[in-house]
Amino acid sequence: MSERIINFSAGPAVLPEPVLSQAREDLWSLDGTGIGVMEHSHRGKAFLAVYEKTVALCRELASIPDNYKVLFLQGGASSQFFTIPMNFLAQDKTADYLITGSWSKKAIAEAKSFGTAHTASSSADKNFNYIPKEIKYSDTQTYVHFTSNNTIFGTEYASEPENPAGSFLVCDASSDIFSRPLDISKYGIVYAGAQKNLGPSGVTLVIIRDDLIEQGASDIPTMLQYRTHAENDSMFNTPPTFGIYIMGQVFSWIKDQGGLSAIQKLNQRKANKLYGYLDSSKLFQGTAEVDSRSMMNVTFVTGNEDLDKKFISEATAAGLDGLKGHRSVGGMRASIYNAFPEAGIDKLVEFMTAFEKSNG
Ligand code: PMP
Repeated sequence: MSERIINFSAGPAVLPEPVLSQAREDLWSLDGTGIGVMEHSHRGKAFLAVYEKTVALCRELASIPDNYKVLFLQGGASSQFFTIPMNFLAQDKTADYLITGSWSKKAIAEAKSFGTAHTASSSADKNFNYIPKEIKYSDTQTYVHFTSNNTIFGTEYASEPENPAGSFLVCDASSDIFSRPLDISKYGIVYAGAQKNLGPSGVTLVIIRDDLIEQGASDIPTMLQYRTHAENDSMFNTPPTFGIYIMGQVFSWIKDQGGLSAIQKLNQRKANKLYGYLDSSKLFQGTAEVDSRSMMNVTFVTGNEDLDKKFISEATAAGLDGLKGHRSVGGMRASIYNAFPEAGIDKLVEFMTAFEKSNG
């Protein structure tokens, strides 16, 4: 088998190696059943055990209170962009959006089809290189939507914003979910596409408070009502079984690492190594403001586009893959999610140091 290389992809992204090894076995035969995990009926005993384990581990890891449901949906995080306003934003109501990058812009654009969506804060003035501290809410009685980590711009909320009384907080946590502890009781809804910190693409984790499930619109398609999925344990239709299985394995791996506090320490150590180097470098600069830096996506430039290109191509040749930044920022981006190994950061810093010596 070919060697694995160092994968800085922003998503789908690197998964824990023990998870991949176990999946290789379970693809062939799950728990000695003689049927692979992708081939089991979602209504059979073997898959139901997988589902129950995945939900239980999710609840345990994030200490999810009893009045929240854990759902596994399809359509990606992008489908939550419209499902949330369809359920909770009536035509005569306003929802507040904190705009910190491309994904929150996409989310607010969808909301505008259903009701009034108010931009309560924005960092567009500086190409989204910071998390705005100032928030001017409308008199919303619906919800406040924010993106906890901005995958493209490399910024992250240090903690959740306060939302006005009478509203609930909705978080797109696609690129930093379970990278650190979070207090679910502060949120109405947390959602995340799996393909960065949780598993393969094709499954979206939604954690939603019970009263909101009840309040959601009932005059919209059945599949878009949260109650449909909550009442049927995410099995109203065929759920993304393989994605749920991998998520369960990833949860189990996070638990083995010591849970969310321990993962946070590891993530901090990894990110600090890379930012520490960037801060000492005379060639490379981080693009995000220091107090808004993401632990998951580290964005940086040399200030010279040709040199950036040279760096990316030489890094790729050296087995450091996926470092090209998103086109809206340019330069480089190192995505270093939970499963990204610390040794990969050491290799990158070593490579950057050598590149700086010969190109600085
Ligand atoms: N939100 C964030 C923060 C993301 O990074 C992404 C995808 N990279 C999305 C939403 C969209 O997710 P999906 O592709 O699952 O629709």
